[in-house]
Amino acid sequence: MSSNRLLGRSWGLNRGEESFLGVPVGMITLAGCSAACLFCYLAAAEAHPVALDPSAFVAIAQDLARRGATCLYLVNPEVSCHELLGEALAAVRRLEPEWPIVLKLGGHEPLALARALRPWTDAVSLDVKVFGPADAATVVGCPDYAERVRALADFWRTELGPWPGDRPTPQGVWFRHVVLPERAHGWGDGLRAVDPTGRVPVWVTLHYRPFGRARQHPVLGRRLEAAERQAAVEVARGLQREGRTVWLA
Ligand code: SF4
Repeated sequence: MSSNRLLGRSWGLNRGEESFLGVPVGMITLAGCSAACLFCYLAAAEAHPVALDPSAFVAIAQDLARRGATCLYLVNPEVSCHELLGEALAAVRRLEPEWPIVLKLGGHEPLALARALRPWTDAVSLDVKVFGPADAATVVGCPDYAERVRALADFWRTELGPWPGDRPTPQGVWFRHVVLPERAHGWGDGLRAVDPTGRVPVWVTLHYRPFGRARQHPVLGRRLEAAERQAAVEVARGLQREGRTVWLA
């Protein structure tokens, strides 16, 4: 459910996101998320949400653009008022027409959000977190996660198309996936189910680090072991042999 406010959580230049976006990206993270990921990196950090009106949001975005950000990388738009956010993004588009607007989505968000933000969205980084129903319930806290992420993937693939990866500015949708401990073998089949077309590229990282409640988890509290990393690389190679674009980070 969206609120009647636009709540900023944090913003600044960021060098840690998908490498193909260039550095730095101009990250604005909004407050509020209906998922409950064990490894939520936002939950692990201090948060003092600030109510922003659209003009304040635009001023932040323009400052990031002036400081050299390659794109606006908007995280967690789920709970903010869609109308206010749309107003702010429309103004950013008007003032910075060449500056790409990238949405970073967790995969659980309702389609209503996607429809509301579609007019100002150039690209979507769809963070496909887990694949099995058990993980959906216990790791993401969202039992119908598989259906939700599949619906979002279908929506953005249809609306924007898959990002071809060879353009100077990002346009289209790609998946991002962090390989989790004890889940290094199954993620290829999971991605095939999310995107049966095989056209959406995937940015995969093998550098999982436990955050938040995951730090106390018996399995998710550790990094990948060498054998798991190797298994994940083999999965990536299998996907590439099928013609899928997979970037390993
Ligand atoms: S989707 Fe998960 S990791 Fe992302 S903000 Fe929500 S709870 Fe945190």
